[in-house]
Amino acid sequence: MRTRVTELLGIDHPIVQGGMQWVGTAEMASAVSNAGGLGIITGLTQPSPKDLAIEITRCRGMTDRPFGVNLTILPTIKPVPYEDYAKTIVDSGIKIVETAGRNPEPFLPLFKKADVKVIHKCTSIRHSLKAERIGCDMVSVDGFECAGHPGEDDVTNLILLPLAARRLKIPFLASGGLGDGKGLAAALAMGADGINMGTRFMVTKEAPIHEKVKQRMVEASELDTSLIYRTLSNTARVFKNSIAEQVVSIESGPGQTKFEDIQPLVQGTKGRELFDSGDLDSGIWSAGMIVGLIDDIPSCQELVSRIVHEAEEIINERLSKVVAG
Ligand code: NAD
Repeated sequence: MRTRVTELLGIDHPIVQGGMQWVGTAEMASAVSNAGGLGIITGLTQPSPKDLAIEITRCRGMTDRPFGVNLTILPTIKPVPYEDYAKTIVDSGIKIVETAGRNPEPFLPLFKKADVKVIHKCTSIRHSLKAERIGCDMVSVDGFECAGHPGEDDVTNLILLPLAARRLKIPFLASGGLGDGKGLAAALAMGADGINMGTRFMVTKEAPIHEKVKQRMVEASELDTSLIYRTLSNTARVFKNSIAEQVVSIESGPGQTKFEDIQPLVQGTKGRELFDSGDLDSGIWSAGMIVGLIDDIPSCQELVSRIVHEAEEIINERLSKVVAG
């Protein structure tokens, strides 16, 4: 498959692994890049810019294919030195950055000067158009199905993607609810140039998380996610476990929820411990509705080939027969 995304990113298949806190390590990113997609290291998973530089070097030792780095700018419990992370990305010679969470405009001069391609993750058309206007090279259009932060508009990809195709000039990825060849074929049909997957890549052999977490996501249905932080306008879609249910219950109580009331339950460090220990009710973890369509734990190579083959077969066989009558 050749699309503007494969051309612009220099990859074999139009499949990108989006930033995932605690999951986007060198192991994860290199496995996706070696499978012909684009792997992405999650910047803030590394405790400091110096550690990020080390992680980038480690990833270079594991793949000679292109890979990128994610920089997410959202509320955090501890202040994050975003400028230093951005400088480290550039100084490490990274040429593809995925930004998310907030307008990346302040970082664009730095990235553009270093010839870095910027993919901005957007949960709405107005943000996508803004990203195009300020000079981003590509956007990742994130529908309401997605894991993590879907924004506050609650519009699904069936609407967002055709709208993006009508209005954007730059290439765009479909993100949220994607994990198989049907999704890839549908995304291409709706005008996207490729897909971005997070949750589906968490359930692969190479994802650096406990087997119990992967297994639980295999067993899950499409109803097994919860929306938290709705009352704080920082909505996040996470796996529905007892902690997520406690957070939803606190938020549905009388009066405005204060972040302090839920912080001990949701802090990212607990999510990291959960990924290490496999204790499924010790914190929260991001997961999208696609868990309902995940039923195995393949290698990234198997997964990417399967998705591409299934999509090609749908386009060449089923759909061409439909139009041939
Ligand atoms: P953290 O431990 O600092 O915070 C835990 C969660 O609480 C995060 O989702 C954060 O956005 C939220 N939060 C923190 N302070 C808040 C406040 N004052 N009001 C409302 N919400 C608040 O974060 P972490 O888990 O170490 O993650 C680091 C960064 O990665 C954060 O910016 C987080 O949002 C982001 N992240 C993004 C995704 C995604 O899918 N896009 C998923 C996980 C984490």
